[in-house]
Amino acid sequence: MLPSMNSIAKKRCAKLLQMAAIIHSQNPILSKRYVDLARRIAKRHRFPLDSKSFCKSCGVVFIPAKTLKVRTSAKDKVVLYLCLECGAARKFGYGKRGRRGQEGKRQPI
Ligand SMILES: [Zn+2]
Repeated sequence: MLPSMNSIAKKRCAKLLQMAAIIHSQNPILSKRYVDLARRIAKRHRFPLDSKSFCKSCGVVFIPAKTLKVRTSAKDKVVLYLCLECGAARKFGYGKRGRRGQEGKRQPI
């Protein structure tokens, strides 16, 4: 059986994000281009990408301690992702409040 277009696109996006993380130290511009291509392919084929693997505002791939700072807040029960390129912050909830509504969602790559 031939693979569907969607599964080919998902494999290509996963490969592009992987290559973006590898190439970032040598060529950050090419790395951003790979992230942009992955985002465009996911948009075209209508499936969610793992938003924890790149910055949504500047498009840099997240590499812990290089382009990403992770902080946790036990009080708010959130994990804070700070982009070291543009300073954008994203919050991901955990615990009961963070998991609410996650059951019905499609799984990102
Ligand atoms: Zn950023």
